[in-house]
Amino acid sequence: MSAHHDELNPLEAAEARFDLAAEALNLNEGICKILRTPTKEVTIYIPVELDDGRIEVFTGYRVQHSIARGPAKGGIRYAPDVTLDEVRALASWMTWKCAVVNIPYGGGKGGVICDPTILSQRELERITRRYTAEMIDVIGPELDVPAPDMGTNQQTMAWIMDTYSMHKRHTVTAVVTGKPLNLGGSRGRTEATGRGCLIVTLEALKRFKINPKEAKVVVQGFGNVGGQAARLMSAAGMRVVSIVEWDGAVHNANGLDIEALMKHRNETGSITDFAGAENVDKEEALYLDCDVLVPAAKENVITSANAHKIRAKIICEGANGPTTAPADPVLKQNGIFVIPDILANAGGVTVSYFEWVQDRQGYFWNESLVNERLEELMVASFNDVVSYAEKHGVDNRTAAYMLAIDRVAFTIQLRGLYA
Ligand code: GLU
Repeated sequence: MSAHHDELNPLEAAEARFDLAAEALNLNEGICKILRTPTKEVTIYIPVELDDGRIEVFTGYRVQHSIARGPAKGGIRYAPDVTLDEVRALASWMTWKCAVVNIPYGGGKGGVICDPTILSQRELERITRRYTAEMIDVIGPELDVPAPDMGTNQQTMAWIMDTYSMHKRHTVTAVVTGKPLNLGGSRGRTEATGRGCLIVTLEALKRFKINPKEAKVVVQGFGNVGGQAARLMSAAGMRVVSIVEWDGAVHNANGLDIEALMKHRNETGSITDFAGAENVDKEEALYLDCDVLVPAAKENVITSANAHKIRAKIICEGANGPTTAPADPVLKQNGIFVIPDILANAGGVTVSYFEWVQDRQGYFWNESLVNERLEELMVASFNDVVSYAEKHGVDNRTAAYMLAIDRVAFTIQLRGLYA
């Protein structure tokens, strides 16, 4: 059985979850209409000269889903298969994510249809600078603050910051987050999403009365989120038994040496054929009997076609949208404790918020302060969501959406409509 095509459209997934929570909240119909629609969508065409002299035109998007609680906030994704629907879904997820952790932002997302793995650094720089110039009136510290996402990184943010600043004739560090440390970046930002995953997983383990030192973990994805989550979980004493990547998976029942695996991947380009582990099937690894599964790679990994095979007790969604909407009831029926993406991976945007605050203050915090504040905020949000779920008899995902939608709807009601 394979998953139905519609199931894999992220916008359908976002709308299905929204509708479920809105109904449970008995949300006012007008507010519902507002929240189902983005505030602004911009499509641009980016002509760029490639290194061989040819000209290519790339398509770029920025969608601001909501600016009710503050500036739009969210990453920019560079991938060959980016679609406007995907960016719309991701933008709305950012609204709910920022509301779940109660930081003063709306939600936005950007994307450029391109393959960063085959473009040179010079080509990526030209795409990024032209994208920024075209979006000059759309983004800004008080308007919309981009950050890295799949296919973009610190360097991309440095180019955006520089291009924006050149247009404004002065340095504006707070226009993007996820910048390099010496360009107004925050300590702890690189590992923040993975650290957030660790924090909420530790809270979930407490509920199951599982000693972290005995917890068996499987992580899918070994990039910025999965790699850091695996490293930090392993450093916290958990047994990371399997890492799953797009080109294969590795397994060691006694726990993998994550630092050594990172070194191996950097040297060989792959996690497979690692001396400290055996190669295993990348599909089967997801179905291993374990305490925690961390899908931290991409969308649509757990679907109606395979949700029944998952044997983890806890799923910590490091990626955005790793579970499709039709898979939710299957996980629920099997008693799996899901830490939904809008909570589980909110550590990244939370430290982005800290970065933006530091940039605006011009006063930078040490790493332990960043991590301490991240932990305080993530633990509080985890407890908010889980107690909401218990109180209202809904699953954690629905609870997170209800909590978030309620916060945004309340703001819209207070502000009223400008006509
Ligand atoms: N792209 C990340 C996310 O999906 C981070 C967004 C941000 O820091 O603004 O949450």
